[in-house]
Amino acid sequence: MHPSIPATLRDQTLGLLSSGAATSRADLAEALRVAPSTVTAVVRRLIEEGVLLEEGSGRSTGGRRPRILRLRETDGVLAVAELGGKHARVGLLTAGGAVRDTAEVPIDIGAGPAAVFGTVHETFARLQATTAPGQALLGVGVALPGPVEFPSGRVIGPARMPGWSGAEPAVHLAHAFDDFAGPLLVDNDAKAAAIGEYVTRGQDTGDMIYVKAGTGIGACLVSDGQIFRGGRGLSGDVTHVRVADSGERQCSCGSRGCLETVASGAALSRQLAAPGTPGMSLQDIMVAVHDGDPAVVTAVRQAGRLLGVALSGLVNFLNPSSVVVGGALSSLDVYVAATRSMLYERCLPSMTQALAIEASAAGPDAALTGLGHLLRTTADVRSPS
Ligand SMILES: [Zn+2]
Repeated sequence: MHPSIPATLRDQTLGLLSSGAATSRADLAEALRVAPSTVTAVVRRLIEEGVLLEEGSGRSTGGRRPRILRLRETDGVLAVAELGGKHARVGLLTAGGAVRDTAEVPIDIGAGPAAVFGTVHETFARLQATTAPGQALLGVGVALPGPVEFPSGRVIGPARMPGWSGAEPAVHLAHAFDDFAGPLLVDNDAKAAAIGEYVTRGQDTGDMIYVKAGTGIGACLVSDGQIFRGGRGLSGDVTHVRVADSGERQCSCGSRGCLETVASGAALSRQLAAPGTPGMSLQDIMVAVHDGDPAVVTAVRQAGRLLGVALSGLVNFLNPSSVVVGGALSSLDVYVAATRSMLYERCLPSMTQALAIEASAAGPDAALTGLGHLLRTTADVRSPS
């Protein structure tokens, strides 16, 4: 610090500004009972240090309009991202976990963690440059579309994530963020979205089964406000539950008749493909449902019913307060309604009497919100290696 500015004067200045008791150089001179030249020296020093901004004009007191002194927000930001097979949703959150800015960027998940996290970092840097320049990075969290071991963050048996097997995502993530040494989190996307949904809805939600129904299907039980992770952290893999009436299709896991083969976006895409075409995109399917295309509506309804079949066993076993369907397919009322009707049909009446079965309230930012909550409330889960 500059030798001509006593530490007490510096602290008093910061105290007056942070409490709002002073907002201009004139206020400071009056409150501190020092000469304007002393205030000028203190203010100049604090601006040089980057803790103070002087901008705009304050209320006029008859003479010259004073410029306003404002402490720079130094509480920092969180970098979060949810990865899909072809897109990443990158977010900048406040230190308190509120979503301040997001961007969607194309990725190829098969390119592996180094390349994908490089894109995530570039995108976040772009958001930060416009939204929160100069603010400290307090944590980095990423949600992956596959089974993630906890707390190591390793991807286990990633059928839809070639190039990730055996990798240490946390190490790659820290490296991509300029060897970031703060809190780091790599989690499964459905778990991140589930806790984001819970935080958005509040504690009245009670014990909740959350299903993320997009290209694939993931799920998570939130009990007592906590993610139920299971022994190795791999809980919630409802996608490989075998369902009746599934047509015994071969699944990516090597088994047959899994929920994923009949109720996921990928399954619908394949079923609805015109002969000789690669398949309908999720976007195409949504448009067709909104247009009332009978073949597509019927297929989506059947997919929702089969999700209900798979969930009915869980509801009877766990007696949750709510079942929430999130992910891209949750925007299709016919899918959620079919899931609901099948749960009513297959579950004990005592289980469904007080059971809320609803589409997500948190929407597309569910996983980003959840990552922010986990970063703020859990210890560093960086891989030990
Ligand atoms: Zn399977």
